[in-house]
Amino acid sequence: MSAPQDYPALWLHEVRRSYKQGESSLDILNGVELALWPGESVALIAPSGAGKSTLLHVAGLLEKPDGGEVYVGGAPTAVMDDAERTMLRRHEIGFVYQFHHLLPEFSALENIMMPQMIAGLSKASAKQRSEELLGYLGLAKRMGHRPAELSGGEQQRVAIARAVANGPRLLLADEPTGNLDPKTADHVFNALAQIVRATGLAALVATHNLELAGRMDRRVTLRDGLVVELP
Ligand code: ADP
Ligand code: MG
Repeated sequence: MSAPQDYPALWLHEVRRSYKQGESSLDILNGVELALWPGESVALIAPSGAGKSTLLHVAGLLEKPDGGEVYVGGAPTAVMDDAERTMLRRHEIGFVYQFHHLLPEFSALENIMMPQMIAGLSKASAKQRSEELLGYLGLAKRMGHRPAELSGGEQQRVAIARAVANGPRLLLADEPTGNLDPKTADHVFNALAQIVRATGLAALVATHNLELAGRMDRRVTLRDGLVVELP
């Protein structure tokens, strides 16, 4: 468990994002406030089209907001250039998507080693950490399998291992169990929760699954482009 920390893992402050549609503009985020503290898991529950993916992309420094500030681990990101944003994303943020996006021609193990080696870790260290992660997620016997040789639930667990391979302080997941049957979704969600507890990272998970959302620390929604706390 991590020690108490001074800064939120993520703080979205007055974040605005709109998409130009010809002459008009579509305002998706209208001054979003959201702080996630280390070790905290938050479910983002909102109807399709409400802006969940947009919020996650902005939080993950994949898209720039049109206004406001995104702080990652206390660091303001608007002033950063693309190289700095990329470095921060690579080291501090992990992503899980609805579809695993694993590289099809590589094994589960290699898929998890990849981001670590890109971040500068030696092959031996990356391999050791990847083996530990896969073992931890119950996939010790699947290390050499390619994505096509894994079940949907196994693919998502490998995707979770890849997302946390570089020890990020923030995990962003966009409907990570949206493509799975209820039992498998439960299994994958438990893997995610287990990683959050073990590492003390903060997790923001967009989901339609109210039962799984109910097991997270907090639930929020998007209403008129603002993040609103749910009971
Ligand atoms: P959600 O993930 O909650 O389903 P999104 O964040 O994907 O919602 O999209 C929110 C709204 O923004 C939708 O109405 C969508 O059509 C619009 N939108 C998303 N991305 C773009 C884009 N690149 N250009 C224009 N409109 C977009
Ligand atoms: Mg979406």
